Amino acid sequence: MSKLKIAIQKSGRLSEKSVALLEECGLKFPNGGGKLITECTNFPVEILFLRDDDIPQYVEQNVAHIGIIGENVFLESQKEIRIVEKLNFSGCRLSLAVPKEIEYEGLDFFNNKKIATSYPNILGKYFKENNISATVEIISGSVEIAPGIGLADGICDIVSSGSTLLSNGLKEVETVIESQAVMVSSPNLEAEVQEILNKLLFRIRSVQNAKENKYILLNSPNNQLEKIIAILPGMNSPTILPLAKEGWSSLHSVIGEDKFWDVIDELKQAGAEGILVVPIEKMIL
Ligand code: ATP
Ligand code: ZN
Repeated sequence: MSKLKIAIQKSGRLSEKSVALLEECGLKFPNGGGKLITECTNFPVEILFLRDDDIPQYVEQNVAHIGIIGENVFLESQKEIRIVEKLNFSGCRLSLAVPKEIEYEGLDFFNNKKIATSYPNILGKYFKENNISATVEIISGSVEIAPGIGLADGICDIVSSGSTLLSNGLKEVETVIESQAVMVSSPNLEAEVQEILNKLLFRIRSVQNAKENKYILLNSPNNQLEKIIAILPGMNSPTILPLAKEGWSSLHSVIGEDKFWDVIDELKQAGAEGILVVPIEKMIL
């Protein structure tokens, strides 16, 4: 029987979350001990632990059927692979940064300058689209020290909080791309493998939906129920159960994690009491 081969980062910023995602999808596998390949015990999946930069190539060649990498690595690789799912973790951006004392007034600054980066393809495309003619100096690590040692006038690198830039005397001036972890796949999977992937994607989406939503329970005086229901941007009509206390009901619904904080005050003002917001483990739509 066919197996779906999944490549994930062996050790680095994506490793733990990639493993966690697969575990949340119910996959059981031995992890650790420096193994490079492991088999799931309860799902037709094999997991390969690789350097993230190698994953696009392995996936393109069908050595791995799918992989989890940063969008930045996907775009830089220029391989014949496609994104099948955005995974909502490891969000970061690829940005241009310059020494902090420079009075930066716009992209024109980069004309005829030398920029150090590990992302020559993405940066080259960005400069081309913006009609900037700059020299791209390719270096593979510690890009942020390049301006300080006179190797470049600026850099293009991954930024999340910006603290690494600051401690190297740099400031972020332009975002080139936004990135997050994505699942990539080879363009042509055999039907049997595609079927396993579809099952996994269904599970991933259920896990993602669950993370984006909360289960909300609250008590409401019956005469305020209509008002409270109108405040809740619920997915379906809420469940309403009578409370032992005369004239009161308990209301259950699902609410977007991001929307909850917007409506909490309104709910209280409308008379809601005993509000509980609880995590959802899986949500099947
Ligand atoms: P490898 O040894 O596998 O080549 P690496 O050093 O290239 O690892 P990491 O630093 O582990 O890569 O980063 C992996 C991915 O995590 C990056 O490609 C990017 O998508 C994302 N990432 C990098 N830095 C951050 C950050 N500061 N915050 C969030 N995500 C990040
Ligand atoms: Zn890497």
